[in-house]
Amino acid sequence: MCVVTPSPSVTASGDAPAVSDAVPPTVGGVATEISPGVYVIPDGRTPLVPNVGIVVGERAALVVDTGLGPRSGAYVLNQARELGGGRPLYLTTTHFHPEHASGAQAFKGEATIVCNTAQRDEMRTKGQAHLDMLRAAGPVYAEELQDVTFVDPDIVYVGSAAIDLGGVRVCLRSVGPAHSTGDQIVAVADRVLFTGDLLEHKMFPLAPFISPTDVDCDVMRWTGLLDELVSVGTEITVPGHGEITPETLASYRDYFQFLRAEATRSWAAGISVDQAAETIKKAAQSRWTDWDHTARISSVVGAFYRAAEAA
Ligand SMILES: [Zn+2]
Repeated sequence: MCVVTPSPSVTASGDAPAVSDAVPPTVGGVATEISPGVYVIPDGRTPLVPNVGIVVGERAALVVDTGLGPRSGAYVLNQARELGGGRPLYLTTTHFHPEHASGAQAFKGEATIVCNTAQRDEMRTKGQAHLDMLRAAGPVYAEELQDVTFVDPDIVYVGSAAIDLGGVRVCLRSVGPAHSTGDQIVAVADRVLFTGDLLEHKMFPLAPFISPTDVDCDVMRWTGLLDELVSVGTEITVPGHGEITPETLASYRDYFQFLRAEATRSWAAGISVDQAAETIKKAAQSRWTDWDHTARISSVVGAFYRAAEAA
C-alpha cells in the first residue's frame, strides 16, 4: 500500500507526497494488452494509484483491483465493459488497502465480487480506519474517498479458487499474512501473475505497522513467498505499483533476503532496532539506488526485528 502519512504518530507509512504537490489519485490510464486477453491499466507511477488488471475470456471477464474510491472504480468498470464486450464480469482485489479495493461499490450488482475470507474480514475490521487515515492525508485523497461505502463480496473462498473465464483459467490464491492478512495473488494460467503490493517496481516495500490499527504483516512469510514465485517463473509478473519488468520479482526477493539477513544478525548482536535501521537503510540505499520510498526501509527492519523476537 502506498500509504500517505497523516501524522507523525503513523510511523511506518512511507513517503508522503507534499499535499500541495499531490496528484489526484485516480485511475485514468489506457488499458494495454500485456498477454493475449490480459490488459493492465498502468498506474503511471502516481501515488495511491495501482496497476489494474482486466482478463477477458470467451465467456466472462475478470477485473483485478479497483483503484481508490468510487470514481476510479467506475472508470475501471467502464474499461472492463468495453474490453469485455458485454460478457459477465467478475471483480477480485489483491488486498483490502483502499487504493486497491475502495472502488468496489461501483461493481456491486454489476459484477460477481470474489475474494478470500481473510480479506473480507480484514476489510470489515480495518477498512474504515484505513479510509480515515488517507482522508486525513490531504484534500485530494479525502475527495476521492468521500462517498465510499463498503460492499461485501458475493463469493468468498478459503485457500484457493479458480475462475473459468472460457478458454482462460484464473487461479486466486490466499498467501497472507505478508503485506496484509488477506493478500491474494491472481494467476492467469502460467502466463501472468498479479501480486498486489507484495511487489512494487523500484519502490521499497511497505510492511504496514500502524499501531494499533493494523499490525498484521509477516515479512518472514513474505520473503519465502517471493522466493517461491521466483522459482515458479511466470512469464509476466504485474506489480501492485510501477512498471512491469522481468527483473522486478527477483530483485524484490533479493532485497527481502538482504534485509532478513542484516536485521537478524543485528538483532542477535544486541543492536537496537533504531541503530540497525539506520545502518541497514544506508546499505540498502547504496545497493538499490533508484528505488523510491526510502522511508519504508526502517519499517521492514522493524518487522524483521519483531519476527526475530517472536521466534
Ligand atoms: Zn497495500
